[in-house]
Amino acid sequence: MATDATATAAKEGADAPRVTDEPGWRESSWSYREFFRKNPYPMWLWDVETFRFLDVNDAAIAHYGYSRDEFLAMAVPDIRLPEDDDQTLKDSADKENLGLAYWGAHRHRKRDGSIIEVEVTTNRVEVGGRPANFVMLNDVTERAKALRARDETQSMLAAVQRVGHIGIWYRNLMTGEVLWTEEMHRILGGSPEEPDAPVDVASGPSSRYTYAEDIELVKLTLEEARRSGKPYGIRHRVVRADGEVRWVHARGWYEHDERGTPIRMIGTLHDITEPVRAEERLAYLAQHDHLTGLANRTAIETYLQSSVTPEGASDSRLALFFIDFEGLKAVNYTLGHAFGDRLLVEAGRRMTEQHPARGGVVGRWGGDNFVIVREDLGDRAGVSRFAKNLFARLSAPYAIGGHQLRLVPSIGVALYPADATTPEDLVACANTALAHAKEITRDKGARFFAAEMRQEAAERLATEMDLSKGILAGEFRLVYQPVIDLRTRRAVSAEALIRWQHPQRGRLGPESFLEIAEQSGLIVPIGAWVLREACAAARRWSALGTPLRVAVNVSAEQINREDIAELVRTVLDDTKLDASMLSVELTENIIVRDAEEGRTTLQRLRDMGVSIAVDDFGTGNNSLAQLKHFPIDTLKIDRSFVRDLGRDPFESAIAQAIIALARGRNLTVIAEGAESREQVDILESLGCNLIQGFYFSKPLEPEEFERFLRAQAQRTDSFPKFSPRNKPISARGAFSRPSTMSSR
Ligand code: C2E
Ligand code: MG
Ligand code: MG
Repeated sequence: MATDATATAAKEGADAPRVTDEPGWRESSWSYREFFRKNPYPMWLWDVETFRFLDVNDAAIAHYGYSRDEFLAMAVPDIRLPEDDDQTLKDSADKENLGLAYWGAHRHRKRDGSIIEVEVTTNRVEVGGRPANFVMLNDVTERAKALRARDETQSMLAAVQRVGHIGIWYRNLMTGEVLWTEEMHRILGGSPEEPDAPVDVASGPSSRYTYAEDIELVKLTLEEARRSGKPYGIRHRVVRADGEVRWVHARGWYEHDERGTPIRMIGTLHDITEPVRAEERLAYLAQHDHLTGLANRTAIETYLQSSVTPEGASDSRLALFFIDFEGLKAVNYTLGHAFGDRLLVEAGRRMTEQHPARGGVVGRWGGDNFVIVREDLGDRAGVSRFAKNLFARLSAPYAIGGHQLRLVPSIGVALYPADATTPEDLVACANTALAHAKEITRDKGARFFAAEMRQEAAERLATEMDLSKGILAGEFRLVYQPVIDLRTRRAVSAEALIRWQHPQRGRLGPESFLEIAEQSGLIVPIGAWVLREACAAARRWSALGTPLRVAVNVSAEQINREDIAELVRTVLDDTKLDASMLSVELTENIIVRDAEEGRTTLQRLRDMGVSIAVDDFGTGNNSLAQLKHFPIDTLKIDRSFVRDLGRDPFESAIAQAIIALARGRNLTVIAEGAESREQVDILESLGCNLIQGFYFSKPLEPEEFERFLRAQAQRTDSFPKFSPRNKPISARGAFSRPSTMSSR
């Protein structure tokens, strides 16, 4: 960088006097000149006005490689690097400066082009009445290099410490001197002004970083290390200056003198917070339900293993609550699983709300089953109070995502040691009690385990497990029973009835498994299968040219747990069955129970074109008047009335009244379970023309039923011959006469 000083120096250089001839310099004392000439350090003299060299010593000539003449032809800026700041040079040329003008480091270029770093000591002198700077030089290139190398090593070490989160410390036990690397401060967050080795608990204030609960452990470890002279390694927590708790792995050792006295400690501190947190997280995940954050099944089992023991039976009491929700599956089905998940989380939160800080456990067993274990409820009355309270809390409305929902909890309670003395048994007892809790009508809440439940529980469990397997293995079948119109003697519809082809127990009717399917919720997948299968069959009948409406039974549990209207819509779409070819059979209790909800569901079905039948009519507690607000098409008179027709005048009167009322309301009436000619005749005389009963046909296998439909289509005037297995074949003769009435 060309500077004013350089420019001036260059311009004035030509006619400046040869300084060596200056009288003042020549006249200076011999010793001074000797000191200058012979000095092993390079020295020179320059004119502060022109910056030109006035004289140089032999060492400078030797060190820089310029000859004396070359030096004297140059100015100071010529040997400096153009990019280096020349302010210091200008300052040192300041005429006011006397004595020591300047001390500092500079870079100079030698004649061979190499660059050296020099310490420059400048003193103001006068040569021939003119101010000049007398300069001593010390080449520090090597030293600077070494320094830089050391700095580099240190910063590299620091980087390694930082990257590895390892701090290094040293403590002189004789003087108390402590050295910390920067990383120590970073780990502990203290200020570098107050170094304090945190691991040496023995020395008082230094323990201030160690987490209170870990101090004892650290102390013991250090005492052992001091005694044994062996290195120690310990994982403990520290509290940073800012209050954050972090995990460290501390290693170190004591150095002893020859008499065995510990004289210093050296150690490292490794911040292992992240890996420890990861470990903790893994341990947490192993013990907690990922959705609700409650204990998971493993954790519940672990808890029970430790508190439910045959030996401990005398001195501890424990209540286990097994909780299940009705309605959650329906929520999942209608509002989606994400929504159902939020409900579960909220239910879990309600369960933990009143849980004591210590003892007991609240956990999710799986699905919508939760478990609460309490040891602090005292006697049976206390347990009962808690259960009541729990029931109330869990059945309060849930407001989630703009929806107000209710869940119906069922709670099974088992007591240790009263009911069981092993964890497995206790859970099984609570589970059985839960099954009974579901049986008793809503709002009753919890049910305690009772000894007589045991056998039944075992069977129930077996059937439930078989049912799940049966669904997967496709062990269910549908059979079809025609509904005959007496006037045409033709089928007007067929009811689909489920059968279970059990691999061991053979063919089972609904009475052996429906109740368990309903209680376990398995009715939902089973019911969906029935609907799909029945609709597909009806679609096939149409394709065969023998269209017939199919009637499908829907149970209360299906309505509770899923949006049945939505399911019907999907299935109709999938099977491409016309909605008018489907009828849904519900019992009157389902329809009336939840009036508002029931009506909407029915209305949605009706709007689609699906017809609705009230099944088993007359067995419920409802009068026909109560049903008038519901959009129903058909009443099916329960078999119990038909059975006693002709035998019991009272039953006949009821049947008659029902039929008359239904006709008055323009409802279709179907009589169920007609087995005899007599019954059929009476029904006909009462004005009921639609009959479903063994008298005409038992439920038929699908192929058998299709044969029946084909035969009916070919037949013009007489009732078809049914399978010879059907007992009342002879009675069918009564219907050989073609009806003169038109079909409805
Ligand atoms: P339901 O809906 O009242 O069906 C009529 C029942 O009466 C059928 O019994 C049928 O076989 C029987 N039955 C018909 N005619 C006669 C007769 O002349 N004499 C006698 N003794 N019985 C007759 P099933 O198939 O055992 O079904 C029993 C109940 O199980 C059904 O009563 C219905 O409530 C339920 N169910 C059947 N299949 C399903 C299904 O797929 N889903 C649902 N949710 N329930 C079903
Ligand atoms: Mg039915
Ligand atoms: Mg019925």
